[in-house]
Amino acid sequence: MSEVRPQGRPHAVWGDETEVVQLALDWTAKRMVRETDPLSTARPAAELAAAVGEAIRPEGIGGAEALRIFDEVLEPATRAQDDPLNLAYIAAAPTRAAVAFDLVTSAANIFGGLWESGAGAIFAENQALEWIVELLDWPETAGGAFVSGGTSGNLSALMTARETAKTRRGGRPAGGWQLACTTNAHSSINSAAKALDVDVVDVPIDDRGHMTGAALRTVLEQSPNVFAVVASAGTTNEGLVDDLADIADVCEEFGVWMHVDGAYGGAGLAAPSIRHIFDGIERADSFIVDPHKWLFAPYDCCALVYREPDLARAVHSQHASYLDAIDRSESNPSEVALHLSRRVRGLPLWFSLATHGTDKYRDAIEASVTTAREVAKAIRASDYLELVREPELSVLLFVRTGWTAEQYSAWSKQAAHDGIILCVPTSWRGQSVLRLAFVNPDTEADKVMAALETLR
Ligand SMILES: *Cc1c(COP(=O)(O)O)cnc(C)c1O
Repeated sequence: MSEVRPQGRPHAVWGDETEVVQLALDWTAKRMVRETDPLSTARPAAELAAAVGEAIRPEGIGGAEALRIFDEVLEPATRAQDDPLNLAYIAAAPTRAAVAFDLVTSAANIFGGLWESGAGAIFAENQALEWIVELLDWPETAGGAFVSGGTSGNLSALMTARETAKTRRGGRPAGGWQLACTTNAHSSINSAAKALDVDVVDVPIDDRGHMTGAALRTVLEQSPNVFAVVASAGTTNEGLVDDLADIADVCEEFGVWMHVDGAYGGAGLAAPSIRHIFDGIERADSFIVDPHKWLFAPYDCCALVYREPDLARAVHSQHASYLDAIDRSESNPSEVALHLSRRVRGLPLWFSLATHGTDKYRDAIEASVTTAREVAKAIRASDYLELVREPELSVLLFVRTGWTAEQYSAWSKQAAHDGIILCVPTSWRGQSVLRLAFVNPDTEADKVMAALETLR
């Protein structure tokens, strides 16, 4: 690795940056192969200010010193998302190939908004999207773009849905637009509704926590202004997948856009043991999945796809005199989402998929599903823990018999502080519970159970 000696002419303003490039590459290479540190953790800004000092000064402090600050102070004040015992929220465990290629992506400095400037890279991104389209069982004409995250993916998809409804139904209805989802939908759906200035209609969940076709039909019969339904393919809190096939029937019947939010759980499409849970997804109009969650890509990466990308193009294409010269004969990623400039953030996923092959992706996702099942089984067998519900994907909820919310919170903080496990409490039907989310194929069930011994 260190034989790579970048050589270039010193820059008129920046001078010779050879050394700083080498330092950054060396640090990166080391980070990619070393064990994660479970003790790294957030610190108060005041403490960081004292430790870092004035890093930004008129004369600069030099790359070596800036990197020292990052290595010794800043990076240790972040949480290792790829630690095998980081099971809080939804962590991320990118492949080394993907992370390495993130560097390549940056170095190549490609403008990924337009085909004319990013053709080769966009072609590769589209190959990765095609794999997702195949998993969805959608027609080959489907397509989309990589955006920064599920939040912006959901917003872009719903903006397309709303504008499409406006065109098809001849304008904004009296009383305004509505979108329908359950209380289990991700918080970003509420944010999108705010941005779009539309109301959210609640579809009551059934006793499994799912949106059903029957509940949706009742809502749509009473709410003619609904332009889109957001179904979950893996709720963040519990990893639940709504009844997609029945929802698709109802959406078709009422002429309502079906958006599927699979930011976390969509990766499960590649796992044969759970693929059937997603039946009906082949009829959705738009879909998102975050490769930075369970598809082993680095931040920030969301794949947004449409069954009919032309509908998105009609909504998201930006027009301005300086954009007149754009070649619109090929698909421009900037034209299918709410963005213009973009890095080709799908390239690390493409490189990793090409390197490892999709079979290994299948195996890696199945590994998390298996770990979740093994941990669920061990919790069921334990005399001090109770499984709250079986995992549908790779999230499970459980309780420590007799504990209160305060006890969970204190335990969770202590376990994080001691570097034992990252596991945070959440609530489930008004009850405090603990939650584990598995997205790292290196997480081992017996190590998780050993860490949970501290709950005794
Ligand atoms: C994480 C998540 C999102 C938001 O994705 P970001 O990439 O964090 O913006 C949306 N929906 C679901 C179901 C999620 O799990």
